[in-house]
Amino acid sequence: MKIKNNISEKTELVANWQTLMRVFIRPENEETKLILLKYMEQILFGLNNFLKKHVGITEKVSLKELSMRFTDTTINKNPEKKLAEVITELIEDIAPHAVNVASPYFVGHMTSAMPFFMVHLKTIVTALNQNLVKIETSKVVSILEKQVIAKIHRIIYKEDESFYKEHVQNAKTTLGCFTKDGTLANITALWVARNSLLVPTKDGFSGIEEEGIDAAYKAYGIERCVILASKLSHYSLKKAGGILGIGNQNIIAIDVDGNNRINLDLLNKEIKKIKQTGGRIRILAVVGIAGTTETGTIDPLKEIGMLCSENKIHFHVDAAWGGPTLMSEKYSHLLDGIELADSVTIDCHKQFYMPMSSGMVYFKNPSIMNSIEYHASYVNRPGSVDLGIKSITGSREANSIILDCALKIMGTQGYALLIEHGIETARKFAEEIKKRPDFQLMTSPELNLLTYRICPADIREKLSEDNFEQRQSINKKLNKINRTVQRLQREAGKSFVSRTTLSIGNKHKEDIVVLRCVIMNPMTNINILKKILDEQEEIYRCHIDEV
Ligand SMILES: *Cc1c(COP(=O)(O)O)cnc(C)c1O
Repeated sequence: MKIKNNISEKTELVANWQTLMRVFIRPENEETKLILLKYMEQILFGLNNFLKKHVGITEKVSLKELSMRFTDTTINKNPEKKLAEVITELIEDIAPHAVNVASPYFVGHMTSAMPFFMVHLKTIVTALNQNLVKIETSKVVSILEKQVIAKIHRIIYKEDESFYKEHVQNAKTTLGCFTKDGTLANITALWVARNSLLVPTKDGFSGIEEEGIDAAYKAYGIERCVILASKLSHYSLKKAGGILGIGNQNIIAIDVDGNNRINLDLLNKEIKKIKQTGGRIRILAVVGIAGTTETGTIDPLKEIGMLCSENKIHFHVDAAWGGPTLMSEKYSHLLDGIELADSVTIDCHKQFYMPMSSGMVYFKNPSIMNSIEYHASYVNRPGSVDLGIKSITGSREANSIILDCALKIMGTQGYALLIEHGIETARKFAEEIKKRPDFQLMTSPELNLLTYRICPADIREKLSEDNFEQRQSINKKLNKINRTVQRLQREAGKSFVSRTTLSIGNKHKEDIVVLRCVIMNPMTNINILKKILDEQEEIYRCHIDEV
């Protein structure tokens, strides 16, 4: 892409030792320094304005057009540009085509605004460049990480003081670990569950981690392992099924009840049915979701937890989204039962409002992670606090520093206020949707997430008639309308809600396209949401004939 303001006279740049050392250590000259300062000042002290000014400007360039501008696959031998030029280009030419996820009108995804100080913290973490794989490259940071992990563990499991005294800095035990994201946190939890189920036997089988799935199934006389989860579970569970070798078709989807929570009767029946195979099929884990990605609903964790403990099944809670709700005294009860979980996933880059990307997984039993322990003689040694010993990742940045600082800056009450704002704004939004004749609320917000669709009142009446064929054909049309409205609003570039497809109905399931709204930006208020609905109404009225 062409650079707009010419920074300095074009001279041929060459990579030699002298110039290399200059760019390695400091800005090449005073001019460069001033340009860096100009942008960094905006980013560090006026993040919101910076994003408003530079990111996601509504210039309509299609993805196809953009992709045609990025087809150069060669790397120059000599430098093409100076640092100042590259930074200017990044901010002036690339950022406008990125997405301003911090806009209060961007309410479609779980990626949103973050407190400005997160950028400072991330910068410091980058500057320190600690590697948590081993103590030799992180020292106090590994120790600090163990402390943060114990703090979050305490929010989830509320063990007593002596428990945390014993484990907070215990080199032999692990209360959890940081991962790249929620996906890897889920995979880690299920990896541990798998290894805890298919442990070494007295007859010489040395465990699944060592011998693999075939030998394990032979040693245990089993045909397959399954994981049970609601059909609204995140697709990372399927990835886990593939990676862990049990096959992703063995992630069994249990249907949901009218409130989008796992149907306990069906879960119970499935467990019974599997038990009747006399061990030929084994349940590796049951997963409860605390905040489904699509509807934000929370499975009945207490009931699932009790069912799992009766049947001695690993209970994993995917609280990637909803976990931080535990910090709200007002709403933490929604997650009652999470303390029964053997493992819990929570994302930092969602409702801990941290930058991309950081996830975490926690375990009730401080020794259970021993089943995924690995050593390399040059990296980590048994009995050391090298955090890479029990981790799916190798080298890893110190996101724990960011979480620790953020918790200090905000307090649990600060987070609680953010989370409560999201939940309460979502409730107001649901009321507003119900008031408007053109809209139909599809799933009420349990947390800060709801779905709705355009479905005018007269059509809603027709849908309530007991005529499946008619209903099907109306829903097909509505699906098309909702898809179009969502796309046109996104393309107009002022607001963004996402869309998903829910399978709805008792006797006959139908795929229903819904608009999905996630409220986590404290700047998003009901007036902004009303404007988003106004715009959708307007688009619908203008384009109704086209669809
Ligand atoms: C977001 C999410 C995940 C996956 O997390 P990533 O950080 O995107 O990998 C898993 N489960 C649930 C319920 C989620 O909302």
